[in-house]
Amino acid sequence: MTVNYHTHTVRCRHASGTEREYIETAISRGITTLGFSDHSPYIFDGVYYSSFRMRPEELKDYYETLAALRDEYNDRIDIKIGLEAEYYPNYFEEFLKLIKPFDIDYLILGQHFLENEIEGEYSSKPTSDPDRMTAYISQVIKGMETGLFTYVAHPDVITFTGDLAIYRHEAARICSAARELDIPLEINMLGLRDSRFYPYKEFWRVAAQSGCRIVMGCDAHEPASVAEPENVRQTRAFAKELGITLDEDPIVLRKPGNLI
Ligand SMILES: [Zn+2]
Ligand SMILES: [Zn+2]
Repeated sequence: MTVNYHTHTVRCRHASGTEREYIETAISRGITTLGFSDHSPYIFDGVYYSSFRMRPEELKDYYETLAALRDEYNDRIDIKIGLEAEYYPNYFEEFLKLIKPFDIDYLILGQHFLENEIEGEYSSKPTSDPDRMTAYISQVIKGMETGLFTYVAHPDVITFTGDLAIYRHEAARICSAARELDIPLEINMLGLRDSRFYPYKEFWRVAAQSGCRIVMGCDAHEPASVAEPENVRQTRAFAKELGITLDEDPIVLRKPGNLI
């Protein structure tokens, strides 16, 4: 594994280690491009405060800390500064305004909530409701259609316990959007490390047939999880079993600042 765009920092409040430790681990394991994509800040109405993302006032430190390390390490590794964000239609404009002053290299779409985290429900909460499944997939596709996201993290994070035919139909909708918009989908290595319900084989069976690009992402929340060898091996084995050829080349990044 030589490229990874899915790396967190302590600012999200559920990750550990210093940025330098992530970088040093990446170098020691042969990573040549390391993208940081911590959970983005979001501005909400009223008193609500998100517990799993950096605060808006931390974005400057996030950017400046990583920019300094990018310069310091530039002859050893290519550091990219990204963010993992949800597509929350009601708050997206404010989010874009917030990040615009920073030269963010890319966004990854990690849709952790249906609608948004105030009015909606956690994506992984099991459901057998086909309407909920359809709404989730439609929201992810709308996010992809903004043209601002470079790839989709764990597109299979929704837990659907209903009719498998419906699941496959909805999975196919994301995969064809990914192919048409040329946005890779990520096999999430954290899910494999932690034996979560994703990556979900039914999803990736559909993806394997769809012609979309498929990448792997460490989703590292601690330095030791950057390109951890056993985790890389299990991810490659997962892909191989499902007939997936992983795209392991550096991704052409969509810089949001150039687009908004
Ligand atoms: Zn996280
Ligand atoms: Zn993540």
